[in-house]
Amino acid sequence: MGLRPNLLTRRTAGVASTTLALLLSTAAVGVVPAASAFSAAPAESCAEPADVHSDARVKAGAHAKHEPNELTVAQVREREADLSSALRERANYRAGAGAGTLATVTVPVVVHVIQENSTRAGGNIPDSLITSQITVLNQAYSGATGGAATAFSFQLQKINRVTNPAWYPIVSGSSAERSMKTSLREGGKNTLNMYLGELSDGLLGWATFPKKALDKMDGVVVLSESLPGGTATNYNQGDTGTHEIGHWLNLYHTFQGGCSGSGDGVSDTPAEASPAYQCPTGRDTCTATGLDPITNFMDYTYDSCMHQFTTGQASRMLTAWNAYRAA
Ligand SMILES: [Zn+2]
Repeated sequence: MGLRPNLLTRRTAGVASTTLALLLSTAAVGVVPAASAFSAAPAESCAEPADVHSDARVKAGAHAKHEPNELTVAQVREREADLSSALRERANYRAGAGAGTLATVTVPVVVHVIQENSTRAGGNIPDSLITSQITVLNQAYSGATGGAATAFSFQLQKINRVTNPAWYPIVSGSSAERSMKTSLREGGKNTLNMYLGELSDGLLGWATFPKKALDKMDGVVVLSESLPGGTATNYNQGDTGTHEIGHWLNLYHTFQGGCSGSGDGVSDTPAEASPAYQCPTGRDTCTATGLDPITNFMDYTYDSCMHQFTTGQASRMLTAWNAYRAA
C-alpha cells in the first residue's frame, strides 16, 4: 500500500512495554522530517497484534514536534483484515439475534485526572477545562466547526481524580501506564476512558485502536494542558482530544500510506506524503487530486488550523463502531 516501512520506534526504557509509541526525535517547526530521523525497528519487534499499537502525538516547548506514528504496511493490513472479520461476525450476530446497527451514538466518557499533587503544575486542572473539552468534542464531531457531521456525541459521566506520583507523568508504554489503566478503566467497549495528566517526552497524547475483545488498555491519554484553556501553546483548543478519539474510533492519520495505495482508507481525504505542521498554505505533496488535508483533525497541524472530519471518515468511524464497540 506504499507505506513507508520501519518508522516505528520502540520505546523500551527497561519496562515491559506492549505499546509502541512513535516518536519523532528532532524536527524543526515546519520541516518535514526525513526518514533518517527515526530509528528503524527490527521487524520482529513489531510482531504484536496491530490493535495494541498506540498512536502518539508530540509537542515540545515552543517547537511543536510530532511523531508520525504511522503504522507499517503489515500493521495496516492486519487492522483492515480484523475490521472485515469483525464486521462479518457482527453481521452473523445480527442475523441471529436481531440486533441493529446504530446510526447515532452517544459515547459515555469517564475522565481520569492523574495528579502528582494538588497544584495546577501537579496536574490539578479545574473541572471547567474538562467540560470545555466535552463541548469541543461535540462541536467537532457534529460538524459544527465546518466538517462533516459524524454519528458521535459525547456525554461526560464522571470525573475521577487520582493523586498518585507513581503514575505521573504518564509514560507511554510503561508498566505504570498499564497499572494505571488496569486499576482505573471503567465501563464496556462503548465507554471512552480519557486519562489526563503530564505526559512523558513532550507527548500530546496517544490512543488505542478498537479491537474485538475489550482490554484494560483501551482508551485515550491526553496532555491535561492541551484541553481548551490549557497552557500548551498552539495545542490548547482541545483538538488533541478530538484527534486521539479519532484513532479510538478507528481513523488513521491523513498521511497514512503517503501518496500511494489506499492511504488512510478514506476516499475523500486527499493523499498526503507526510504530516503537516503549523498551518501551511497551499501544501500539496502528492500529484493526486486535491491539496493536502491540513485542516483535517487527523493531521498534525495546530489546533487553530484543524477543524474538520470528512464524510468518509464519519462513515469509517461508524462502521468501526458497529463492528467493535456497539453493544
Ligand atoms: Zn495521531
